[in-house]
Amino acid sequence: KGPDPDLIAIEERMATVKHKILVLSGKGGVGKSTFAAQLSFALAEQDKQVGLLDIDICGPSIPKMLGLEGQEIHQSNLGWSPVYVEDNLGVMSIGFMLPDPDEAVIWRGPRKNGLIKQFLKDVYWGELDYLVVDAPPGTSDEHISIAQYLKATNVDGALIVTTPQEVSIIDVRKEINFCKKVGIPVLGVVENMSGIQQPISSFIFKKIAEDGKEEDVTEETLKSLQMHSPHLLSLFASTEIFHVSGGGAEKMAHEMHVPFLGKVPIDLELSKAAEEGRSCFTDPKCKSSASALQRIIEKL
Ligand code: ADP
Repeated sequence: KGPDPDLIAIEERMATVKHKILVLSGKGGVGKSTFAAQLSFALAEQDKQVGLLDIDICGPSIPKMLGLEGQEIHQSNLGWSPVYVEDNLGVMSIGFMLPDPDEAVIWRGPRKNGLIKQFLKDVYWGELDYLVVDAPPGTSDEHISIAQYLKATNVDGALIVTTPQEVSIIDVRKEINFCKKVGIPVLGVVENMSGIQQPISSFIFKKIAEDGKEEDVTEETLKSLQMHSPHLLSLFASTEIFHVSGGGAEKMAHEMHVPFLGKVPIDLELSKAAEEGRSCFTDPKCKSSASALQRIIEKL
């Protein structure tokens, strides 16, 4: 049996892509696509040439998270053309191919594998600094083929997103073992929805409001805070949201000898930015999540 022509075609196509990063999660709903989308925005804002490939075939949320709903893919003689957010940020998703976004994609393994293969060999990205691949959750059939194809392209490795609860972390352990088995390096684990951060000043004002003397004291307190301890106004307090029995993602990463990249808090403004297809890095309201994401991205 000779060399697999598909693998050769994928290798050739990916030869113009410097870095390939796979974004994985054990479960759905942990923020994997949000992370993949914001990572792509961040890299593009650093003037990198970026492609975002959504192969979460059953739940493609990338078009919405990039503000590209309703767009369509075009064909050229070079291949399928991605849909561009900016000149340096192109996106490819099965979401662009579905006539009705509410329609369920009920495909069996071979058809899904076929499309993933096509995405990898037929999309014309041109020269890219980064290709971010948003994979489906879990370790299903698709993952084995993605792993096989991506390995042929010298993938940098996988980033694994989880929430802090043990139920999510159990599946991340499986995901890490999967990566080890198929030979894809784990670049690190990100803990998302990790508590909520609120400015300390909001607690102070709340306390005053509960006392029933909101107006008078608020102004006075604010002035005195600004004068004597301005740093207090920029301090954040972190509150846990979930019961974390097993020590969270950091402990798990340590036990499994993979890097822990950091925690991203629950942030209403981040979910708003994601919902509206915007970058959180250019929105000052996303301060708590954007700075956490930035610190994680700097480690890559
Ligand atoms: P997954 O890709 O793992 O299925 P998504 O990225 O689609 O998960 O996220 C699920 C939902 O959670 C989305 O509505 C998203 O806006 C929201 N979300 C993700 N991360 C956060 C966060 N840190 N703070 C608030 N909402 C978040």
